[in-house]
Amino acid sequence: MSLLAENYPLPAEGTPQNISILGATGSIGLNTLDLISHHKSRFSVDALTANENAKLLAEQAKRFNAKFAVVADDSAYKELRDALSGTGIETAAGVSGLVEAAERPVDCVIASIVGTAGLEPTLSAVKKGQRIGLANKECLVCAGELFMNEVEKCDATLLPVDSEHSAIFQVFDFDSPERVDKIILTASGGPFRETSLQDIQNATPEQALRHPNWRMGKKITIDSATMMNKGLELIEAFHLFPVSVDQLDVIVHPNSVIHSLVQYCDGSVLAHLGTPDMCIPIAYALSWPDRIECPVKPLNLAEIGTLNFEDVCSERFPALALCRQALQADGSGPTILNAANEIAVSAFLSKQIGFTDITRIVSSVLEVADQENMMKKASDLHEVAVIDAYGRRQAKTAVEISR
Ligand code: NAD
Ligand code: MG
Repeated sequence: MSLLAENYPLPAEGTPQNISILGATGSIGLNTLDLISHHKSRFSVDALTANENAKLLAEQAKRFNAKFAVVADDSAYKELRDALSGTGIETAAGVSGLVEAAERPVDCVIASIVGTAGLEPTLSAVKKGQRIGLANKECLVCAGELFMNEVEKCDATLLPVDSEHSAIFQVFDFDSPERVDKIILTASGGPFRETSLQDIQNATPEQALRHPNWRMGKKITIDSATMMNKGLELIEAFHLFPVSVDQLDVIVHPNSVIHSLVQYCDGSVLAHLGTPDMCIPIAYALSWPDRIECPVKPLNLAEIGTLNFEDVCSERFPALALCRQALQADGSGPTILNAANEIAVSAFLSKQIGFTDITRIVSSVLEVADQENMMKKASDLHEVAVIDAYGRRQAKTAVEISR
């Protein structure tokens, strides 16, 4: 992904940039709206979407004078329509509504729906050549190559919101990628970095949801606890930046102050540092190539004192190696892995399976898929959908067996 800043003139003074947020009621969505509320003259809101929380969505739409509000879940539509009647704010529901929201021409679409559900609307924004602040990592994991081909073909602008990828984007030499030796993704290690293997086995959703450094949605918080999140991010980085799988490293950095690093052929290592707050990468995606102020406590290195690093413990976190293998196999492994993981995480959150069952189930689904010849590369999005559905079915069966 190479973007030339000079092709993106800064907005004229006094003309607010129109922003749409897919997934406005989630953690990234709320952070984005908070940031917009600090820059009212710079940004205005066009479309907002949610899954089912019509009440919060309607409040947000009114507060930010949105033009269009969409709930994905049809059963929440009446509540949304009633709450917004007489306001002049248009409403819609379902996937078609999400797609309509994504296609409305704006200055930036923040793609922050969680999971594969984000693929179709985000891709619709891509196809309209929009500028996209991409938070949703699952769409790159499940359809990375096809997604990036569309970005290229439709001349869309993709700006990473995931903090590691925003960091890499800021220190990667896109003019001379051959000078890059490797990308080093940092991982906090999550809540179980020092937990014994025995205790990890018995970890509850409440414990797994207690992330030491970041406040995020439930799915990504569980992914951080298994370290599947870092594996998904490795796949995400592979699609976003011109490097091979072997050039992608991960290091545990419990402080979450360095958000990722790029190592160059001369031994120089460029890092991006900042207070661990998603407001910073969101602000960068919204304002790039400019920078805007963020309502975030400035980084105080003297207060932090020491930055710590350690290798990833592969025994504790087998999910990372699983993601790497799936990517290296160069087929549909990532699509199946992602689908199985979504099912397993949801089963863990509803206490149907244990914590370590998540990675075990994902691994077993990949094995079955290999035996059943389902790992071949998808040639179009329809095939991706078929493979994704297959992964979900297999994972549901594995959950049933584990209960
Ligand atoms: P979240 O669960 O807090 O919010 C998800 C949003 O998507 C909500 O608005 C929800 O209503 C909507 N949604 C859920 N299911 C939907 C469906 N089926 N159809 C349409 N909309 C649906 O999640 P989050 O933590 O904000 O994460 C969003 C995405 O950003 C994820 O892909 C995550 O991996 C990525 N991300 C999040 C963070 C973070 O700090 N939260 C950091 C990096 C990347
Ligand atoms: Mg991240």
